[in-house]
Amino acid sequence: MPKPIAKSSKLANVCYDIRGPVLDKARAMEEEGQKIIKLNIGNLAVFGFDPPDEIVQDMIRNLSQTAGYTDSKGLFAPRKAVVHYAQEKAISGVTVDDVYLGNGASELIVMSLNALLDNGDEVLVPAPDYPLWTAAVSLSGGNPVHYLCDEASDWYPDIDDIRRKITPNTRAIVVINPNNPTGALYPESLLREIVELARQHQLIIFADEIYDKTLYDGNTHTSIASLADDVLCVTLNGLSKNYRACGYRAGWMVVSGDKRCAKDYIEGLNMLASMRLCANTPGQLAIQTALGGYQSIKDLVAPGGRLTRQRDMAYELLSQIPGVSVVKPKAALYMFPRLDPKLYPIQDDQQFAYELLAEEKVLIVQGTGFNWPQPDHFRVVFLPNSDDLSDAIGRIARFLDHYRKR
Ligand code: PLP
Repeated sequence: MPKPIAKSSKLANVCYDIRGPVLDKARAMEEEGQKIIKLNIGNLAVFGFDPPDEIVQDMIRNLSQTAGYTDSKGLFAPRKAVVHYAQEKAISGVTVDDVYLGNGASELIVMSLNALLDNGDEVLVPAPDYPLWTAAVSLSGGNPVHYLCDEASDWYPDIDDIRRKITPNTRAIVVINPNNPTGALYPESLLREIVELARQHQLIIFADEIYDKTLYDGNTHTSIASLADDVLCVTLNGLSKNYRACGYRAGWMVVSGDKRCAKDYIEGLNMLASMRLCANTPGQLAIQTALGGYQSIKDLVAPGGRLTRQRDMAYELLSQIPGVSVVKPKAALYMFPRLDPKLYPIQDDQQFAYELLAEEKVLIVQGTGFNWPQPDHFRVVFLPNSDDLSDAIGRIARFLDHYRKR
């Protein structure tokens, strides 16, 4: 018998349940010919939210000239477009040198943490979070320390909890705003409190702002880096959500604030950017087109726009289910409903997701997949068209009705 090949121990604490075992089960069911309604992933293009035509046409036009590698940080013109974007968001002091292009924000999230962390370094990550952050901290040898976001206060970060969890080993804080999975959008006053803590304790701020244009009800977004000239900030963004082009794998990262004390870290970032050679070149040029062009996400999130209508419908229907409560999202593509534990005494929420899939053919992601500590939440995306969305939530309601009566 040959020796079994084990995975690296570096992966011992690494978890990414959005594409975990429940999705594998859904795929197997689909292969058997069953139709699944997918409320599990923020992949806009597959739900008929096409990317702006201008981006697609430029991508096609550029394709024949984009077969080569570029500079490791990326081409000048799209990086310059990102500089202008940073200026529009009032992030000061950003030059082309401070901009890195990546194969989606995901690659840059992993890179930015790998360049920073030593074994045992702590990073404050929200709970619930977009789980790549927790996974990437662990993979980099760091310890993710979760600070709570408070459902009773519109899912805002609990500043006292953050303060309590800062130790001499804390290197950085992750702020996901607008938030996945809760749909929260943070006010400037709260961001200023986070900046103040970062300033006092010399923490780097990692700002994931990938939904910064996906805003409902006329809300506006403040980049935390615009409030923190004297704190090192790494702001991440990309085309996947606001421009509905996940598959183009186009993201960017901006380093701002006090860079004088970060020379060594920036050297590390440059090294890792060089090692992966460059981001895909067609995607880099798509960034240039997108940031210079018409932002049609505005129509989708305006009153009466498709995303707004679907958000409102999902919110109404979920709120009507006994024992389900949900904070209405101000931004992004998700809701994170709570299941009252008195009515639904769930022990294992992955099992709950399996059962919902098996019984009703609806795919959701369990709350613990977002590092939420209790098995009493789940995440839905409100991307399927209205008919599928109301069908799916109707099935969730039926499933929960059976669950209560067990
Ligand atoms: N950050 C957040 C908060 C996300 O929700 C996602 C994807 O869902 C990403 C980053 C990854 O984005 P990208 O497609 O640019 O890698």
